[in-house]
Amino acid sequence: MATVLNLPGPRARSIIERDRDVISASYPRAYPFVMDHGKGSQVWDVDGNRFLDFAAGIAVASTGHSHPAVVKAIQEQAEKFIHISSDFYHEGWVRLGERLDEIAPFSEPAASFMTNSGTESVEAAIKLARYTTGRSQFIGFFGGFHGRTMGAVTFTASKNHYHKGFFPLMNGVTHAPYPDSYRPILASLNGESYGETVVHYIEKEILGKIVPPEEVAGILVEPIQGEGGYIIPEAGFFPALRELCDQHGILLMVDEVQSGMGRTGKWWAIENFGVEPDIVCAAKGIASGVPLGAMIARKRLMSWPKGAHGNTYGGNPLACAATLATIDLLESGYMENASRVGAVALQKLETLAQRHPSIGQVRGMGLMIGIDFVKDQQTREPDEDMRDMVVDLAFERGLLLLGCGKSVIRFSPPLSLTLDELEEGMEIFEEAVEIAEENVRTLAA
Ligand code: PLP
Repeated sequence: MATVLNLPGPRARSIIERDRDVISASYPRAYPFVMDHGKGSQVWDVDGNRFLDFAAGIAVASTGHSHPAVVKAIQEQAEKFIHISSDFYHEGWVRLGERLDEIAPFSEPAASFMTNSGTESVEAAIKLARYTTGRSQFIGFFGGFHGRTMGAVTFTASKNHYHKGFFPLMNGVTHAPYPDSYRPILASLNGESYGETVVHYIEKEILGKIVPPEEVAGILVEPIQGEGGYIIPEAGFFPALRELCDQHGILLMVDEVQSGMGRTGKWWAIENFGVEPDIVCAAKGIASGVPLGAMIARKRLMSWPKGAHGNTYGGNPLACAATLATIDLLESGYMENASRVGAVALQKLETLAQRHPSIGQVRGMGLMIGIDFVKDQQTREPDEDMRDMVVDLAFERGLLLLGCGKSVIRFSPPLSLTLDELEEGMEIFEEAVEIAEENVRTLAA
């Protein structure tokens, strides 16, 4: 039995009270964890409680918390210079561009625009797609999450509170169903896969009836939906989508902000589906927690001239140093570790799911795993209350988890997670599920 912690402790409580006075109330705090320090996949709160971190700051701390190599790279850069601005040059920035060109999922040269966040990478992709195609329209997907700035939030369609109070949004985005074969909303005909059904829907219903294809600049899609519920499209989806894009000169823009940088065992999740995109949006795990994002495109598409797009902090020297150290660590073992430990985690969770009727489906690739809670295995009705209860019970027992979608818990730990840490986390997780199921049985009796 895991120890039950008395949370939040006195120091945490006092900091949360001060936070309420001065920090925007819009931040979506999950539960009262107040961080003091972290090492690898473990974190400690300000009252000295230790937690295993299976959330990694929303899939960001890819090399674990404060990896010595990342800390050293930041320290060494900080001693030299912290900022110079995008009006000038520095070698770390160029080196990072070269590394991104090496790992970009294109069979031709790539060029990158550095940003400070995921949403800014998406904004850059939207602007480049419009600029380079001369077209104005886009297609996004229901359940998608792409950020909260005006362009990106227009594509975001996971919950309506991201839009509430902010209309009018950007003009020119039409949404299609995401190929979620666990809860399909379209009927598949002629034995085709659900992925193909979705592409046919886009072709016939959206391009055929609403937006002429010759006016569509790009289709923006997450290779695995993140906030939408860790949903993996069927194998047939991306090849059919790529073909549709090629047929009409539409750019395939993949948002790899959450799924990229080694999390699925490959640099980019799209590589698991055998197609090449035209533009990749990256952020989160790219710099182990230092704010850096990148919009990486086929070089021939970066047709825009000097001044068309820019930013003050893009290519920030500290962030570039942290990213270069992160890429080296992922390449020299952590990406492979994500594959290996992720496969063990998936298999353990599938076995665990057989013992727990509240779990409808476990799905994942590498260390991007979703556990979907249902009220009924047959109807697959999402069980949000059960999910929330499990997250809270796990927190009280020293495991940080985050929800996504309507009823999903995501496992998105650092890619350095060890098998021992996985084992410890799994024990706490199963105890939390057992207690939550018992609570529901007692309430129903
Ligand atoms: N795109 C995806 C797929 C994301 O998961 C997120 C954040 O969760 C974003 C974009 C936005 O990133 P940021 O919060 O850094 O702006």
